[in-house]
Amino acid sequence: MKSVWLKSGKEKSILRKHPWIFSGAIQRVDGNPELGDDVLIKSSSGVPLGIGAYSPHSQIRIRMWSYNSETTIDKEFFYNKINEAYDFRNSLIDPSRTNSYRLIYSESDGLPGLIVDKYSGLLVCQFLSAGAEAHNELIVDCLEEVTNCKNIYERSDSDSRSKEGLRKATGILKGEISDEIEILENGVKLFVNPVKGHKTGFYLDQRDNRQILSAYAKGKTVLNCFSYTGGFGLFALQGGAKFVTNLDASRPVLDTSEKNYLLNGFASDSFENICGDAFQVLRNMRDENKKFDIIVLDPPKFAESAKQVISAARGYKDINMLACSLLNPGGLLFTFSCSGHITSELFQKIVADAALDAGTDLKIIRKLSQAEDHPVALNFPESFYLKGLICKINQ
Ligand code: SAH
Repeated sequence: MKSVWLKSGKEKSILRKHPWIFSGAIQRVDGNPELGDDVLIKSSSGVPLGIGAYSPHSQIRIRMWSYNSETTIDKEFFYNKINEAYDFRNSLIDPSRTNSYRLIYSESDGLPGLIVDKYSGLLVCQFLSAGAEAHNELIVDCLEEVTNCKNIYERSDSDSRSKEGLRKATGILKGEISDEIEILENGVKLFVNPVKGHKTGFYLDQRDNRQILSAYAKGKTVLNCFSYTGGFGLFALQGGAKFVTNLDASRPVLDTSEKNYLLNGFASDSFENICGDAFQVLRNMRDENKKFDIIVLDPPKFAESAKQVISAARGYKDINMLACSLLNPGGLLFTFSCSGHITSELFQKIVADAALDAGTDLKIIRKLSQAEDHPVALNFPESFYLKGLICKINQ
């Protein structure tokens, strides 16, 4: 079998079951493996350590499929992984209230480079690694067999594909697709556009946090910044909020937002959708002395890499400082960072600095994270990325 020999001492992370092997850890490659081929991993002394997928163009040269070198990476392998992930999601989700969730979360489900989100009867896949791509037909067959979903769509249009030497790919894999699917999340209806929406169509990772917000929202005015299709605001209104202001830089997502509020029967005088740059709009609001009872800040990933942490920290601080100045006494700030490179400790420090500079006194009343269908594999800490704080501003 094609094999990859590690340098002396470089087997340590594999023995701890971290699923990535970087190019610098490799001593020798035997058998000329090609993009996505399954290879046997060996220590420097030739001890077999497992099977991984070879990615010749990426710094992450190998992604491990199995730490048992006897494992065959065949249909049964993928079926079992997908089946286990599906059973787990079914144990979490009450189908009468929620029909959409992350079915496969890459390394956390033992399938590096594979993301599958379920939107009602549609599965949307991203094959983000050479290994996942090499087995995509088997994977799609197993997805259909396990879930019985007849409609499967590919959204492998993430920039990370180029690092793997793969071109972007989108299109129908099975069945048919509509560009407007109605999903159900904790009893709230939402339109999702799997073709043009962000990522696979919706930010499923915030499901629990949207629900948590509704419990605090009764009678409150809510500013939902970086609102996308209005998710947090919908839950605020469901929880009895007085008025919701959604703010996003993208016109198309706000058009969907508008439709989502009407879909749930919320009166058009209970919400507004503002299109603009949050940094600018919040500054204008501060200058106009506007105030809100609850502010949600759920910005996109400001730090795409470790190099961007400092500039990202500045962005998080600015936006949190502005939000602090817009809160009514006793108000709540729901603030998030989905940048994996910003640690929980750093994020808390940034929010503390923002509060200080805004001249406000904040306390954390609850810490939030990604929903349970995005589990954090302890052998792969990189799978933890979403950090949230609910902070209360002093009276
Ligand atoms: N909270 C949302 C997800 C937010 S995703 C939910 O629950 O579904 C981040 C959003 O920020 C995207 O919709 C993107 O269009 C928007 N965005 C990015 N940069 C922005 C900016 N400078 N100002 C306002 N919105 C921005």
